[in-house]
Amino acid sequence: MRDFQYAIPGDVSNAIGLVSQEREAMFIAGGTGLVDLMKLEVQNPSKLVDVNRLPLADISETGNGALRIGAMARNSTVAYHPLVGERYPLLSEAILSGASAQLRNMATVGGNLMQRTRCTYFRDIHEACNKRSPGAGCAAADGFHRMHAILGSSEHCIATHPSDMCVALLCLDAVVEAQGSGLRRIPLEDFHVLPGDTPHIENVLAHDEIITAVELPRPAGKRACRYRKVRDRSSYEFALVSVAAALEISGDRIIDARVAFGGVATKPWRAYGVEKALNGARANAETYRVAADAAVEGAVPRRHNRFKLELLKRTLTRTLAELTGVER
Ligand code: SF4
Repeated sequence: MRDFQYAIPGDVSNAIGLVSQEREAMFIAGGTGLVDLMKLEVQNPSKLVDVNRLPLADISETGNGALRIGAMARNSTVAYHPLVGERYPLLSEAILSGASAQLRNMATVGGNLMQRTRCTYFRDIHEACNKRSPGAGCAAADGFHRMHAILGSSEHCIATHPSDMCVALLCLDAVVEAQGSGLRRIPLEDFHVLPGDTPHIENVLAHDEIITAVELPRPAGKRACRYRKVRDRSSYEFALVSVAAALEISGDRIIDARVAFGGVATKPWRAYGVEKALNGARANAETYRVAADAAVEGAVPRRHNRFKLELLKRTLTRTLAELTGVER
C-alpha cells in the first residue's frame, strides 16, 4: 500500500472541498472495497477523506411516502429496518444475500453503489486491464472469464458489476441523490454506465460529487417480490446469476412486472424486454418461455460463460413460477 493523506471533514461541503483539491483524492466510507484495492495497489489515492462521521445515515419516510436512505446507512441497518422489511422486502433479501455479516455491518449504501468489479484481472496489477489502465487491453477476454458478463459488455471490458443491493434498488426504481456544486437526483438506471470504449468510467458522478442518499418511491400496490441468487457456494460469494422480480398479480394474470438481473451484466441490468413480455400476460409456461428468451436477447457469451445463458433463463423461470404460484 502506498502512502496517503487522511482527512476527517466537518460537514458535507468540507468533504467535497477536500476531495476537489486533488485529482487523486477519494472519499472513504466503510472501506470494505477500497482498502482491499489499496492493499493490492489497484487504487492509489493521494488522500482519503473519511466520511464516516457525516450525518448521512438516517433512514426516514419523506412527505410523499418515499423512503430516503442516507448514503452512510450500513447495509445491515438497511436490511433490518422495519420500513424496509415491510415495504421493500426485496431489498432486504438482496442485501442479506451478499457478503458476510461483518462486511454488511461496515459497508454503506453509498459505498455499495460505488463498488468496483471483482474481475480477478482488474485486481492483479500485473495483468492487462482497460478499466484499471485505459488502453492496456483486457486480459479477461482471452483469459478465464467464467464469472464475466454476457450483457452490456464491449470489446474493451466484460467485467460484471458485483452488487446485489443495486439490482434490487434498480427493480424498485431507486433515485440517487448526489451533492457536488449543487444537489442532483439521478435515477439509478442512469447512474452506472456501460463500459463501451471507456470502461474506467463506471458511473456519472463527478470527481468531487458525493452520494448523500438513495430514495425509493412509495410502492404502488401490492407486489410479490423475490431476489433469487445463484452462486458457487451458499454464502459469501458473488452471483453467477441473480434475478430481482416484483410482480403485481391479479388472478392468473401478471398486471405489472419489474425485473432486474445481477451477475450477468456490466452494470445492474433492468430487463425491460422481460417486463414487456410479462406485462398483461397470463402466468403460464408459454409466458415464461417468451420472457426467458427476452432475458438473453442481445447477450454476447464467451467460451467460459456460455452456461449463463441457460442459467439466467432457468433462474428467471423458476422465480416467476414461485411468485405467480403457477408452475412451468
Ligand atoms: Fe479489466 Fe474489464 Fe478486462 Fe476485467 S474484463 S480485465 S475489468 S478490462
